[in-house]
Amino acid sequence: MKLINYNEVLVREKLEELLKNSSVCDCEQCKLDMMAIALNNLPPKYVVSQQGEIFSKAQAFNAQTAVDILGAITDAMEKVKRSPRH
Ligand SMILES: [Zn+2]
Repeated sequence: MKLINYNEVLVREKLEELLKNSSVCDCEQCKLDMMAIALNNLPPKYVVSQQGEIFSKAQAFNAQTAVDILGAITDAMEKVKRSPRH
């Protein structure tokens, strides 16, 4: 059994996708900084994961979550782009 913050999973996925089509640096340092900024601006969404269990996105996902996550990531990308720490 494992406790995971589902928003962390969603942010990581979405961030990877957005970075592919952006000019923002995608080195490890910048990526983690963006994840930290985005996740600090989102409420945690803890779920208990059983070994091998795959969460269906629909389980923890809804339209409002998508909007909130996108907003938090966009904001984080702007901040890191302005002052990268690498
Ligand atoms: Zn970087």
